[in-house]
Amino acid sequence: MLPSPSVVRGQVDVKKAVVVGSGAGGATVAKELQGKFQVTVMEEGKSFRPFTVDLLLVEKLKNLGLLFDESMINVLFPAMRIRKADSRMVMVNGVGTGGTTTICTANALRQDRELKAIGVNLDEDFDELSREIPISYDHQKHWHENTRRVFQVCEEMGLNPVASPKMAYRNRCAACGRCIFGCRRGAKWDTREFLELAVRRGAESLQGCRVKRVVINDGEVLGVEVSGGRHRGFHPADLVVLAAGGFGTPAILRGSGIECEKRLFVDPVLCVAARWDGAGQDKEIPMPFIVQRERFMIAPYFDFLSFFFNRNWSYPAGNIYSLMIKLADSPNGGVEGRRIRKSLTEADTALLDEGVSLTREIFRRVGRKDDEIFLGTLNAGHPGGMLPLTEKESATLHNPSLPENLYVADATLFPESLGNPPILTIMALAKRVSKLLIANA
Ligand SMILES: Cc1cc2nc3c(=O)[nH]c(=O)nc-3n(C[C@H](O)[C@H](O)[C@H](O)COP(=O)(O)OP(=O)(O)OC[C@H]3O[C@@H](n4cnc5c(N)ncnc54)[C@H](O)[C@@H]3O)c2cc1C
Ligand code: SF4
Repeated sequence: MLPSPSVVRGQVDVKKAVVVGSGAGGATVAKELQGKFQVTVMEEGKSFRPFTVDLLLVEKLKNLGLLFDESMINVLFPAMRIRKADSRMVMVNGVGTGGTTTICTANALRQDRELKAIGVNLDEDFDELSREIPISYDHQKHWHENTRRVFQVCEEMGLNPVASPKMAYRNRCAACGRCIFGCRRGAKWDTREFLELAVRRGAESLQGCRVKRVVINDGEVLGVEVSGGRHRGFHPADLVVLAAGGFGTPAILRGSGIECEKRLFVDPVLCVAARWDGAGQDKEIPMPFIVQRERFMIAPYFDFLSFFFNRNWSYPAGNIYSLMIKLADSPNGGVEGRRIRKSLTEADTALLDEGVSLTREIFRRVGRKDDEIFLGTLNAGHPGGMLPLTEKESATLHNPSLPENLYVADATLFPESLGNPPILTIMALAKRVSKLLIANA
């Protein structure tokens, strides 16, 4: 029989919890649990560092024809992982401390309609987050004239554009436009702050620590198995919380003999761009405002991935203005080890067409010519949905297919695609999971 992993601190027996992943879900759980449990955070990637290379240099490589596939980003900037689904859709996620939050565009939107509909009330958790995270709208002063014009046109079209709430220390922001490469000025908030807080409270944070599977015996989790690196081997735990993201968590569960549902959503993104001399959008805060439509949203967003790798994007970076369409896609496909199966359904394609028509109309109204409008590369970076919560689990947040001491705390639990930035909602849900774990400890 294996010895109990609990650790004795003073006279109190403290249970040991392993949290897998340090992104939106994982860092939140680690911060909440540390103290009540002795937490070890296991993160596959390294300590995050922003991409500091001059983007003009990368543009030069592009012009020389040396950038030919999105997966080259994995070499240039390893904290951003790019993979292609079987349908060739480009999938993006962050690997390293802070997970994908380090490469996000800082949008902090509450998006819990679907969770509320099944009886999960996160009001208290969102309230707490609003006190813990700097969220500001104070970025309009940085908007370029063109963005103000596009905003005005959206208003005239009755599209009700709204400035995006941003997780940022605004006084430090230089509006450089490089959020997706990591912020060099420490202006953008990401979950490394929660991770550091957990560590200051006594948690252990391991990097280069890829969890291969959860070790289960007789319906009970004994710990996790780490593949490769200096942490390789079995790590015992009383409790395991998986927050390895919408791609990572189902892969670990599958490796542990627990099949998820083939209901993957990814929030596909397609950018519609236009030639606009002197636009300067590549050096502007990304997604400064959002237009919400039924099952898709539109926001100004300079799509560096398309700019570097898509041949349609042939104008200089400074002369392109781009609008992102982000879909709430239908659940289908899944993760099989490192392979991702995901394609658009007919309904998704119809929605995307609707978004393209609308953005083309916006461009026409700001004076862009039809023959200078072009599309970007279909990509996605909000995976989840493969172990969706239902009404039955609204009180426990625990899927019955999991052992009692194994929990999930990321977008894998979302019943539906949000078609919207999910970080804030993932963190609120992770807080709720943590509170239940503390109450049951
Ligand atoms: C370019 C981009 C911009 C975005 N901008 C926004 C935005 O502005 N606002 C917003 O709300 N959302 C945004 N998102 C989405 C958001 O960042 C993610 O949906 C969110 O971070 C997911 O949180 P998570 O905890 O589920 O996973 P992640 O934050 O991805 O964290 C998972 C972590 O687990 C680690 N991991 C994976 N597998 C293993 C394993 N086997 N063992 C150990 N560790 C593992 C990963 O390395 C990663 O660090 C953006 C996404 C992208 C790609
Ligand atoms: S625009 Fe630049 S300075 Fe501002 S948060 Fe993003 S990366 Fe940081």
